[in-house]
Amino acid sequence: MTLSFDPDTVQVPSGHHIGGKYVELPGEEITVLRPSDEKLMGVLSDGGADSVEMSVAAAKAALSKSKWATMAPRDRARVLFKFADKIEENAEYLGRLEAMGSARLVSGTITGDVVRTAGVVRYFAEYCDKLEGTVTATKADTLSFTKREPYGIVGAIVPWNFPLITAAWKFGAALAAGNAVVMKTSELTPHSLLATAQLASEAGLPAGLFNVVNGYGHTTGAAIVSHPDIQIISFTGSTQTGAAIMSLAALSGIKPVILELGGKSPQVITRNAGDLDMIATRVADSFMVNAGQVCTLPSRLLIEDCIADELTEKVIARTKKIKPGPTWDANTTFAPIISAKQLNRIDGMVQETIKQGAELLAGGARLEAVNEGNFYAPTIFTNVSRENIGFTDEFFGPVVSISRFADLEDAITQAQHPVYGLAASVHTTDMREAMHVVDQVEAGMVFVNQHGRDPEFTYTAGGFKGSGFGKDMGRAGFEAFTREKAVWINYH
Ligand code: NAD
Repeated sequence: MTLSFDPDTVQVPSGHHIGGKYVELPGEEITVLRPSDEKLMGVLSDGGADSVEMSVAAAKAALSKSKWATMAPRDRARVLFKFADKIEENAEYLGRLEAMGSARLVSGTITGDVVRTAGVVRYFAEYCDKLEGTVTATKADTLSFTKREPYGIVGAIVPWNFPLITAAWKFGAALAAGNAVVMKTSELTPHSLLATAQLASEAGLPAGLFNVVNGYGHTTGAAIVSHPDIQIISFTGSTQTGAAIMSLAALSGIKPVILELGGKSPQVITRNAGDLDMIATRVADSFMVNAGQVCTLPSRLLIEDCIADELTEKVIARTKKIKPGPTWDANTTFAPIISAKQLNRIDGMVQETIKQGAELLAGGARLEAVNEGNFYAPTIFTNVSRENIGFTDEFFGPVVSISRFADLEDAITQAQHPVYGLAASVHTTDMREAMHVVDQVEAGMVFVNQHGRDPEFTYTAGGFKGSGFGKDMGRAGFEAFTREKAVWINYH
């Protein structure tokens, strides 16, 4: 299969997907552009409260008619397995939509993101009949136990950086646990998810169980969070939006929120890391993937003094070897920034970092060699003080700072961030060093000798502190969409 394709030949879905079919609704226009060339991908409408109301009505009817929550768990699993198969059968189409509309490269969407999306659905389908409670200790002639039940209707809101996978972590788990879902796509990357919802219908998922609406955050997103019949909110996005969602959820009726938020993650490289050429490649590639638009981005490199000069040089050299280009060209190795607005935001923050006293070692401007689209050069700073926005703020682009450390305690002190605690990594062949960092660093995810997860489904994703709470994926990510009921029976 040749992965490269002509984006003008791909059919793009339109409308919201409510009650098992595409539905056009009036609303403010959302113009979706392809980040690689800024050409039009599609025009959708902001569904607002009406689209959410319609989705909730469809979800209620579907839950009642299909008995989704109470059917034999294996029957629920069977439908989800068919849904996963459909996703995989349509990998080429979904992978093309994903590449066209987002910063994901086609070299990794068809055989990567889409296959993993199907894998996530299968992983959670396997959990359908593994929902268990506990029998607790009581006196004679009484029985006390707990059972887990679905919430009913789950509201989910997702960002644009990994549109399909981030969504699957939520809809896969929520559906498997017996819920219906009302999900809002990011207004920047709606199309692959809309097409996935159609595949759910074709696979036989009862119409109305999985609804996908388009819209802006302050309208459609807020309508989901404040809807009285939506019982729990699962959100992935920025810390600022997470805080707004948490307060809206509290003010519009008490409902739980799961928040997967931003980060400013450290990557610690000790003198025992190993061959520096290999480490330089590993380190540079980890912050250039998806052009740095990754929540766990290792945006702060902490390097032990004695290897800092040599490793810094090698990392900079590696950043010059990129091939920026359209996401639909299989030879492209460096992605565009999602939008012109986001590129300007990154550039503004880079210039501010310089103004606040940091030293620019590489990049620091848009990539002029690429005529169309939103491309920004891999950018490296050093001498970034803890007060500088280069240390404090999430850029969500290919921008990192390099600092030196004297010993491991110094590295751990520097690794802690006052706000964020999403991820961290340490590169060392000395396992005592590695485990010391693992134990001490405040982060929800820690990697040793890599930065970023392998595509395993058992590994939970979620942060500490300002990076949020609650988990996606793993058993915790499944149980998050259930609530525990305690039962007491007196039979004497
Ligand atoms: P964002 O917070 O701007 O938007 C995320 C989603 O929330 C979008 O669908 C948006 O329309 C919606 N939204 C915005 N305001 C809202 C409101 N008031 N009420 C309800 N919904 C609202 O984030 P983004 O720019 O799309 O994505 C980038 C951010 O996401 C980064 O901060 C990144 O770190 C974070 N992220 C975190 C994880 C994780 O697992 N922790 C994963 C991916 C991305």
